[in-house]
Amino acid sequence: MENSSLHAVQNSGFTDKIDVVCPRCERKALVIGAGLHEPVTRQEEKVRFSCAQCRYAIRYANTPKLKVYVNSRGKPKYSRTLHLNTSIDPFFGFTLWYRIQTNEGLLWAYNLEHLAVIEACIADDLHGRNRAYLLRLIDRLRKREDMV
Ligand SMILES: [Zn+2]
Repeated sequence: MENSSLHAVQNSGFTDKIDVVCPRCERKALVIGAGLHEPVTRQEEKVRFSCAQCRYAIRYANTPKLKVYVNSRGKPKYSRTLHLNTSIDPFFGFTLWYRIQTNEGLLWAYNLEHLAVIEACIADDLHGRNRAYLLRLIDRLRKREDMV
């Protein structure tokens, strides 16, 4: 069960603050995000990553753009591509902190608020043993914060 099958959840509404795994120290770190539909220039102004544990920090504006295509005059065009609907943050592509393997696939959330919405959807949509199983996993995932 990728999140996409939980059709009621709008993943894109939760990208202002994203909990990720720090790529340097592997502890919990934060991406200050932006709306996915905001202009790229605005995203470049706002979006940054920082880790309170190891002090690693990056501004989105300073990450390399990808060469998307070469135009008819042979000039390369660069752009930014967001990583959408997958278990990494949309801007830097860092692994999300809140992700857990279930027997129906990977379940992931950008932050606790997002996780709570997913939990509510599962409680509403699914029935029987599988629901209890998934809700138990989500509960465990939420407490992952305590282990830091
Ligand atoms: Zn770190």
